[in-house]
Amino acid sequence: KHNPEGDSQFLEDESTKIFARKVAEHYSARTNQTLEEREASPIIHLKKLNNWIKSVLIQLYARRGDAVLDLACGKGGDLIKWDKAKVGYYVGVDIAEGSIEDCRTRYNGDADHHQRRKKFTFPARLICGDCYEARLDNVLADDAPFDVCSSQFALHYSWSTEARARRALANISALLRPGGTLIGTMPDANVIIKKLREAEGLDFGNSVYWICFDEEFSEKKFKSSSPFGIKYKFHLEDAVDCPEWVVPFHVFKSLAEEYDLELVFAKNSHEFVHEYLKKPEYVDLMRRLGALGDGNQDKSTLSPDEWEVAYLYLAFVLKKRGQPDRT
Ligand code: SAM
Repeated sequence: KHNPEGDSQFLEDESTKIFARKVAEHYSARTNQTLEEREASPIIHLKKLNNWIKSVLIQLYARRGDAVLDLACGKGGDLIKWDKAKVGYYVGVDIAEGSIEDCRTRYNGDADHHQRRKKFTFPARLICGDCYEARLDNVLADDAPFDVCSSQFALHYSWSTEARARRALANISALLRPGGTLIGTMPDANVIIKKLREAEGLDFGNSVYWICFDEEFSEKKFKSSSPFGIKYKFHLEDAVDCPEWVVPFHVFKSLAEEYDLELVFAKNSHEFVHEYLKKPEYVDLMRRLGALGDGNQDKSTLSPDEWEVAYLYLAFVLKKRGQPDRT
């Protein structure tokens, strides 16, 4: 009461932390699936398609020997992709303790996991922490600079406040070497807002997902509201059930520029698929991952509802300004 501004600042910080914890608890609680469970998932082909998109990004931008920073690495589902790219060093950070534990188990190769395999060839460091709250450059002083930073299906969790969005980008920029690359995937705000406008109420979805906006973000208020903190609840069958935030891409692009990160490209997943499926090596990769069926079975490929979920996402690449030190 004595300091209304201070109080509201405090309240915003508290609720931001509560939401960050909600996200962490949601992901922490998700247990590893057996191969059978995974194959029976109603979004199995979407998962495979997303793995293909991430693999293509990694193959396009990681080089042998690179130092990689995986921000919001989850359970380490991309470890094999980095191994195939023959990277030299890997640091994974995630807020969800359960996920980091699963990642560690997977890295150590002693998981009862369907991808039981030989040990990874690169050394790794796995850390549990909030990538959008505190500075990471001190924690990772001995590991930086990184050649590639990857943030897959996660940067939108930083968009709850401007401070967190800035912290995320500042961390990435501080840890990448000049000329280093940020690769990532996140929801495509244009698609989400278009769907909200077409919806009758504040929610929309299909048999595998739904999105529900809070009343305060009904379309009219939405236009004048701040580009940060635009919250919706996202449910994706067998995958996600937590609060997320809209990331207007033009704001992301210009904020990133403030941190010396320049946009190379951003493409909706549909466009990305169409473009890279023109290249035979990526068609092969899609077959190997099992996202493209042979057409003989009904369930051999994405359902229309899974394909609609793919449309909710985009892939992006940014480059840190400056020249690399090495040739
Ligand atoms: N990148 C992994 C992948 O592609 O499989 C995981 C993606 S999962 C959809 C989102 C991840 O973001 C979760 O593992 C979650 O714990 C993590 N995450 C959310 N907020 C975070 C934060 N503030 N700091 C670090 N990780 C966060």
